[in-house]
Amino acid sequence: MEKEDKKGTLYIVATPIGNLEDITLRAINVLKEVDLIAAEDTRHTLKLLNHLEISKPLISYHRHNEEIKSDILIEKLQEGKEIALVSDAGTPGICDPGEEIIKKCIDLEINIVPIPGACAMINSLICSGIDTKEFTFLGFLPLNKKLRKSKLDEIEKSKKTIIIYEAPHKIETTLKDLKQILNSERKITLAREITKIHEEFIRGNIDDLIEKSQGIKGEIVLVIEGNADISEENELTKLSIEEHYKYYENLGLSKKEIIKKIAKDRNVNKNEVYQKFI
Ligand code: SAM
Repeated sequence: MEKEDKKGTLYIVATPIGNLEDITLRAINVLKEVDLIAAEDTRHTLKLLNHLEISKPLISYHRHNEEIKSDILIEKLQEGKEIALVSDAGTPGICDPGEEIIKKCIDLEINIVPIPGACAMINSLICSGIDTKEFTFLGFLPLNKKLRKSKLDEIEKSKKTIIIYEAPHKIETTLKDLKQILNSERKITLAREITKIHEEFIRGNIDDLIEKSQGIKGEIVLVIEGNADISEENELTKLSIEEHYKYYENLGLSKKEIIKKIAKDRNVNKNEVYQKFI
């Protein structure tokens, strides 16, 4: 048998984000059949496994041991073991550990199989009533002042829907920060405790949300409408000048027209742009 055939498979298994019924038949079968389950918090996953009447060896794989544990797991996969990776809730790799081992598996040509299921980001978006065609997921906003400011700037200028995760004890501060950058036209949906008893969607503008979310508890996702005031020209200035040129070139414009347009979009002198492309 080829050496490659002996390698095991890493299954990335989505688990419920609240309601324990939100697990697929395929996920249950995989959890039953693998040799080992790598879990973010083994005690947490044990509760799910007990509920599903599955008994399997568990190994912890969390943010603080990702580097070491991914090497151990890789070794086992190289030996031909089948492993399922789960997080505490939802889809591993989405604001949860997973990325590290997935990248290593790809480098080592170890097979990875997604087992789709719950994800708070997608379920908040689909019930938000906000444009689902194009969106940007920012995960948790950074706490570091400078990084946070840069993310808030991004939200302010985004034409696309923005999705962020937030912890209940930080939601008040986050909404106050958002108030600084969102105009009252922009819709925002706060999705709380999705799939759980207290599931709730609070919709409105930033002022409505601040008013309606006082003392709110539970797990939260914010879905923010894109900024309709951002014109396409503004978006284009985020590109490098070469990409900007390509954009118009693909539209079939002549060199002269492109240079004129770039100068206008970037608010620079035509000659300055011309110099770049002679
Ligand atoms: N991997 C998960 C997923 O697929 O959505 C996300 C894990 S991240 C560590 C936890 C954050 O996800 C929470 O702080 C909250 O923002 C969001 N979240 C998870 N479960 C949720 C739920 N039932 N309702 C609302 N938000 C939830």
